[in-house]
Amino acid sequence: MICEICGKEAKLSPVLVEGSKVMACKNCETAGVKQRFVKKKTSRSTMSRPQEILIQNYNQIIKEARQKKGLSQEKLAKNLNEKESLIQNIESAKIRPSSDLIKKLQAYLDVNLLEEYKEYEYEKKESGKLTLGDLIKIKKK
Ligand SMILES: [Zn+2]
Repeated sequence: MICEICGKEAKLSPVLVEGSKVMACKNCETAGVKQRFVKKKTSRSTMSRPQEILIQNYNQIIKEARQKKGLSQEKLAKNLNEKESLIQNIESAKIRPSSDLIKKLQAYLDVNLLEEYKEYEYEKKESGKLTLGDLIKIKKK
């Protein structure tokens, strides 16, 4: 097989280069990984696009849902096995909950804190294939 980066005949393995998979030799594999590492450090936000993102008013949704259930921040924190200060910071939008915590909050408070990344969906839809977004929707049913 021929390396897709340097064109040399060699044993290849799949490498991620700038988000796309290419077959590369050992030499280029190392270069690709290095490049990726540098990129990650400089432009974190433009790396891989999430399919679902946290809604903007997540803090309000969480707060309202918690109050509806008659729970204090302390109680909610305890039930989720988290610190009360974390819940406080999330409800005042100082901290964005981790994806794990989002899942826990969604399940516990019966709310939806994520929305699909519209641009991503639009891009994919044009190809006419089943999108990741569609797959997520199917899963949710
Ligand atoms: Zn190569």
